[in-house]
Amino acid sequence: MKDRIRSVLLGLGVDDVGFASVGEYRSPASPAVESLFPGARALVVLASRELAACESPSPQLAMNARLDLMAFSRSVCYQAARFVEQHMGAGVMTIPVSCPMDVGDPRKAGVAEISLRHAAVAAGLGAFGLHNLVVHPRLGSRVLFTALLSGLELSSDPPVADNPCTSCGLCVQACPVGALDQPGKTDRLKCLAACPIGTLGGGPGASAA
Ligand code: SF4
Repeated sequence: MKDRIRSVLLGLGVDDVGFASVGEYRSPASPAVESLFPGARALVVLASRELAACESPSPQLAMNARLDLMAFSRSVCYQAARFVEQHMGAGVMTIPVSCPMDVGDPRKAGVAEISLRHAAVAAGLGAFGLHNLVVHPRLGSRVLFTALLSGLELSSDPPVADNPCTSCGLCVQACPVGALDQPGKTDRLKCLAACPIGTLGGGPGASAA
């Protein structure tokens, strides 16, 4: 079953796919999965790489590349969800790339219902770097994750053997607002305050926990 789902998703253009049983997913700040989707058994996590356009000196064009990737990832995730429901007889919930999120409570700023970072790590798609984002062994940090939560019983993929992060610290030094100054913690409010609204899918707001 995993091979079939993986094949469909790779055929839709994502760069990598991983699986995590709900029991293997642990996010310290997000709510329990059972409270969001009773009967959920596994996460299917999709990884899609950024285009080189994200390096454009033009913030507008770089942001446009991010928005394009978010639109692509949403579309693929939704198509995969429909495939699983129609062909595998299991209920499915799509997990947002970023928005909608609860912005009414500052303590929840940037905290997703499902942390895609923790889901990606649980699904063997990477490991946390010093920037508290996930580093994929092949795609690096320039990758966007989306996910399906399903009632299918699917085993977790193995964790990455070695953390691709070399702890060079360049990402911490490069953060313009010092949001990464405290090891292992992202100051989400600093980060969000510095991010244009349209880029929320690219920073810790995407799945912070
Ligand atoms: S510490 Fe270096 S290798 Fe690790 S995520 Fe930051 S920039 Fe990448």
